[in-house]
Amino acid sequence: MDFEDIETIAVLGAGNMGHGITEVAALAGYDVRMRDIKDEFVQNGYDNIEWSLNKLAEKDQISADEADATLDRITPLVDVEDAVGDADVVIEAVPEKMEVKEEVYDEVEKYAPDEAIFATNTSSLSITKLSEVTDRPGQFCGMHFFNPPIRMDLVEVISGEHTAPETLDLIEELAEDFGKTPVRVRKDVPGFIVNRILVPLMNEAAWLVEDGVATIEEVDATTKFDIGLPMGSFELSDYVGIDVGYHVLDYMHEVAGDRYEPCPMMVEKVENEEFGKKSGKGFYDYEDGEGADVPMDDDLFSEAVKERLLAVLANEVAYLVGDDVASPEEIDTAVKLGGRWPKGPAKFADEYGVAKLADALESAYEESGHPRYEPFDHLSTVVEEGGFYDGEGDEGTPTFDTIEVTYPGEKVAQIELSRPQQMNSISLELIDELDAAIDLLEGDDDVRAVLLRGAGSKAFSAGADFMSIAGGGADPFGAVELSKRGQSTFGRLEEIEMPVVAAIDGYCLGGGMELATCADIRVATSRSEFGQPEFDLGLLPGWGGTQRLQRIVGMGRAKEIIFTADHFEAEEMADYGFVNEVYEPDGFEAAALEYTEKLARGPPLAQRFTKRAMHKGWDNHEAGLEVESMGFGHVVNSEDVHEGINAFFGDEDPEFEGK
Ligand code: NAD
Repeated sequence: MDFEDIETIAVLGAGNMGHGITEVAALAGYDVRMRDIKDEFVQNGYDNIEWSLNKLAEKDQISADEADATLDRITPLVDVEDAVGDADVVIEAVPEKMEVKEEVYDEVEKYAPDEAIFATNTSSLSITKLSEVTDRPGQFCGMHFFNPPIRMDLVEVISGEHTAPETLDLIEELAEDFGKTPVRVRKDVPGFIVNRILVPLMNEAAWLVEDGVATIEEVDATTKFDIGLPMGSFELSDYVGIDVGYHVLDYMHEVAGDRYEPCPMMVEKVENEEFGKKSGKGFYDYEDGEGADVPMDDDLFSEAVKERLLAVLANEVAYLVGDDVASPEEIDTAVKLGGRWPKGPAKFADEYGVAKLADALESAYEESGHPRYEPFDHLSTVVEEGGFYDGEGDEGTPTFDTIEVTYPGEKVAQIELSRPQQMNSISLELIDELDAAIDLLEGDDDVRAVLLRGAGSKAFSAGADFMSIAGGGADPFGAVELSKRGQSTFGRLEEIEMPVVAAIDGYCLGGGMELATCADIRVATSRSEFGQPEFDLGLLPGWGGTQRLQRIVGMGRAKEIIFTADHFEAEEMADYGFVNEVYEPDGFEAAALEYTEKLARGPPLAQRFTKRAMHKGWDNHEAGLEVESMGFGHVVNSEDVHEGINAFFGDEDPEFEGK
């Protein structure tokens, strides 16, 4: 079967994942038969989809007509023959039990057309074994969505031993057509990629506490605020469900040996039914309605913890690469999308130094003798090569993780903030990469204008990345330095010689709005929202926000925007003079490019001197920035900021005390 032939998709199971996959497939235009074993189960799945589509329509992410049409494409069913009789692709999302899945495939095989492809959403079972239950192992693969499918971009496409390459190509194309990013997992290894990284991380965290190397608090503060992962290791365990992590680990233990022995601390939690967030208690207590409170305290950072966790991650990556399951790039993409990491484990390992990590692993292995520290063969090759990456792109141009530089039009370079899962929030790494991109474009005579945009349709940029701010407060740069680094890079962008257009679609908040303020022109979709919410967090706009905004909208409006911390609509910001042009979302990308191409056709020298003269004409700017960065340094570690950030994550109103 060719990809173009796919029209009808059967989804088996209308539970958590099944209904989400159905929604995604129907939104992409496919007719979907969603099957569960009882009317009430399919109905429940259908109701969940309806609710979710309404939410998307409320947020203007789709139109009301699109929501209706999507729902019309879905047929809820209980009869198996009706569900799969004319399906081109069958996606199975029934409970994670081999016996249940075997029974399902036996039944489906009777009615599905011979050419139909089967894909399973299993998180941990063997794709090869499942394929062998069917009469079409070549037309069988894994299609592992992440929860919730509507929001998570990653789909792991997993090859079983018998899977034909065309099956993988076709399912990858289908995932792309669903608007997802497929990552191929070339071998059916337990945990595939994302769980293969996350689950040993959670296990190692528990071992570190079990072995008395550190406390839970130290491990989590280090994971979250020193390494910079989105959650502490134990916080993640509680969030995922300790039982879920344990289940995957147990399976890995069975298939891949003692290095995956679950830590007794985890076993005990599972036995006591303390599964984490969902059961009210895990490594943290959730009964009082509070979340995991990982302390943002650099006294708790432990180099030993950081090194051990990164060493175990590096070893897993080496295994996956060495066994040809996936490349470092693919692994990093998968973990960034599936785990919402700011960068992937291969990149983390390279930055720390793979040789140091390999040494740490060796000595931990000698000390403890536990097989989890035994280096995989490929790790020594990685050390010899100096890391997972060679640091340079194919043509010697820098490669970026958090931004993407492309050339979409006549003499136009585009810088896209490419952290859509993090609402394109601005991290220290992004600032550094932006700086390198400015170097690149400044030296390129073929570029006459720059288009700045955010990936995805949710945000241009929702602001500074809290994690990197917190890290900035504690790391050697310090808060003043953090503010200064942002100021300097944003300043360079403002002063770049060619015109810069910011194309804003979605949220443009805080640091994101400060970045947009550095552009010469701002165009936005009607659904965009603007604001400087720093005061809600007890912070002040620290990347030029106290200076540039007032030049564009006047001091009165700038104070209104900053002091109220409110959100403003695109039309209102156009009235204030901040947005130059408002467009409808349909066709926005092309319109923004056309606008930029027009500027690229302008007179470069005149443009350059006009910009320079206009910017030079403002007095005392440096002094203003100096005051701003000192102020930022003053407040960033204050109690008020702690209060503001906690209130933000707890969805409460902050109570500031001026301390
Ligand atoms: P779930 O329990 O929410 O849903 C499973 C559904 O399958 C239930 O509604 C059940 O009634 C139905 N079902 C049972 N037997 C069936 C049959 N014979 N035919 C059709 N439907 C049947 O489970 P879930 O979380 O949606 O997980 C489903 C699959 O997706 C599992 O393999 C799981 O490992 C995998 N997965 C889950 C997640 C997650 O975070 N929940 C993430 C990725 C993958």
